[in-house]
Amino acid sequence: MRATTIYGERDIRVEDRPKPTIQNPTDAILKVVAACVCGSDLWFYRGINAIEEPHAMGHEYVGVIEELGSEVTGLAVGQFVVGSFITSDNTCEICIAGFQSKCVHRTGVETAQAEYVLIPNASGTLVATSEYPDEDLIPSLLTASDVLGTGWFAAVAAEVGPGKTVAVVGDGAVGLLGILAARELGAERIIAFSRNPERQALAREFGATDIVEERGADGVAKVKELTDGLGAHSVIEAVGTQESMLQAMRSTRPGGHMGFVGVSHGVEIPGYELFSSVIHLLGGPAPVRRFLPDLIERIMRREINPGRVFDLELPLEQAAEGYAAMDERRAIKTLLRP
Ligand SMILES: [Zn+2]
Repeated sequence: MRATTIYGERDIRVEDRPKPTIQNPTDAILKVVAACVCGSDLWFYRGINAIEEPHAMGHEYVGVIEELGSEVTGLAVGQFVVGSFITSDNTCEICIAGFQSKCVHRTGVETAQAEYVLIPNASGTLVATSEYPDEDLIPSLLTASDVLGTGWFAAVAAEVGPGKTVAVVGDGAVGLLGILAARELGAERIIAFSRNPERQALAREFGATDIVEERGADGVAKVKELTDGLGAHSVIEAVGTQESMLQAMRSTRPGGHMGFVGVSHGVEIPGYELFSSVIHLLGGPAPVRRFLPDLIERIMRREINPGRVFDLELPLEQAAEGYAAMDERRAIKTLLRP
C-alpha cells in the first residue's frame, strides 16, 4: 500500500509499505477514506520533535472496516467509522469516567496517512455512522477524529455554557473548532484571538462575536477591556507555547475555567502566578472518544459544518505539498485522499 513517511525536517515522502494485518483479536483494519495533516504533525516536520529514524505519519482518519479481529464486538465489515487518535478499551475506570485518552490500555494511532490503517482496541475506539455518509460530509466527519473532538473537549473543560464569555487563544483548526463548540454549547460571547483575515472570517462564521488582534499583555488587556476588567469566564488554549499558555491564563477571570489542548512545547508556568490565579485548569490530549457519538450525530444531521477548516484537499501522493502548505500557513488544514 501507499503510505506517508517522514525522513527528516521538511522531508515527507509517500512510499510503498506492507499493508497492515490483524495482530491482536481486538484489532480492526480500515481502508482509509480520508486522512489529514495535523498542526501537531508540524512539530516533526519543522524538526522541533526529533526524528530518530524514518516513521509513518497520521493520526486522524475515517474509513471503512476491511477486517476485524475475532474478539471485536459491535462493529461489522463494510461499516463507515470514525475513530480517535488515541485508542481506548472504553471499559476501564478511566474510560468510564470520560477520559479515554488516558485509558489503561490506550495506544496511539500514528500511521493513518496511508491506504490502510490498523486500529487496536477497535470496539472501544471506532464509532460507526448510521449509514454511509454523503460525500460532502466526509471532511466534517474527519474533523471529529481529532480537531473537532479536541476543540470540543477544550470548550467542555473550560465549562463553556449559556451566559458565559469565552476567549479562544489560537486560530488554527482546533482553536476555530473550539469557537464552533463554544457556540453550540451556548456561549453568549466568543472572543477570538487572530490576526489573519481568512481565519478571522472563519472564526466569525463559527460564532466568534469579537476579534482581538493583539497578543501577549496587549491581548490580555483587550479581553479585560471587553469583560469589565474581569477576564473571560472560559478560556480555550489551542497553541501550546509559553506565550499562548500565559495569555490564556491571564485572560481567565478568578474562578473561571481554562481548557488547554495545544500540545505543550517548552512551557513553564510560574508557580506563584498559578497559585495566585484562582482559576480551574483542565487539559491535555483530548478524550475524543467521549464526544464521538454526539459529534457524529450533529454532523449527520447537518447541524454543524466543521469540515470548513479544510482549505486544501490533495491526493495522498501529494502529502509533502500538504505539509508545506500548512507549514507556510498557506493552508489551515490539508485533507488527504488515498
Ligand atoms: Zn480504558
